[in-house]
Amino acid sequence: MHESGVFASLLQELERLVAENQAKRVSAIELVVGALETSDDEHLREHFRMASQGTIAEGAELTLVRDPNPLSTGFVLRSVELET
Ligand SMILES: [Zn+2]
Repeated sequence: MHESGVFASLLQELERLVAENQAKRVSAIELVVGALETSDDEHLREHFRMASQGTIAEGAELTLVRDPNPLSTGFVLRSVELET
């Protein structure tokens, strides 16, 4: 399964947060991954690396947290650290 759309939306959200807060860039994010998502961390990191290339989130530290709810799906942005 390919999550390019998920990461494109995530990047849009990060761009919006940076603009709203007049920040310079995103330094770290925490993303909750649904238990039913089958992609492994390395695959998700690769998506983030590609989606963030040349953006305000390039090089941001990505923390992936697996949702403990066994029926959970999808991706939720739980926290964002901005560099101002
Ligand atoms: Zn993929």
